[in-house]
Amino acid sequence: MLNDTLPKYFDPRKHAAHEVTLEGRLPLSQFPELSAALASNEGNAFVHLDFRVDEDRRYIATGSIKATVQVECQRCLEAAPVELEVDLCVCFVYDEDHAKNIPGDYDPVVMTDGEVVLADMVEQELILALPIVAYHDESGCNPVALKYASSTDDAPDDEIKPNPFSILAELKAKKN
Ligand SMILES: [Zn+2]
Repeated sequence: MLNDTLPKYFDPRKHAAHEVTLEGRLPLSQFPELSAALASNEGNAFVHLDFRVDEDRRYIATGSIKATVQVECQRCLEAAPVELEVDLCVCFVYDEDHAKNIPGDYDPVVMTDGEVVLADMVEQELILALPIVAYHDESGCNPVALKYASSTDDAPDDEIKPNPFSILAELKAKKN
């Protein structure tokens, strides 16, 4: 079931002991570092986490993070949607030393004062999943933008800028 009541912080030890499931969404606009790498911060990250304690008493969460993000297409420089899907198998640890002692198939997340900021954890996972370069599908590029993006010297600036007189006319129309 999807809801919007994801906690800001959580205690992985309590959640693991009670085998809690966290499910919900976080707006991409909550992730400043990720947003800086995107063409737009519109959309949501959908989070599903199942907590448990493993046979060695470790605090574990498995699940997924899914988001459709808008990345600048390197061919036409317009926003192109990219679907990110991260499968998670997280082990919550106390510090870096503790992180070195967990099996390699677990992804360590360090707790601060026994807690984890959910948005920070989700943001870091999404940043790691971002493609280095992105393109629209072969036919998905904006043909007009493509023309300007590919021609560096034969697209004079004033061709792209809106006519200043039409802007004045719009302003006047709004006033009246
Ligand atoms: Zn494109």
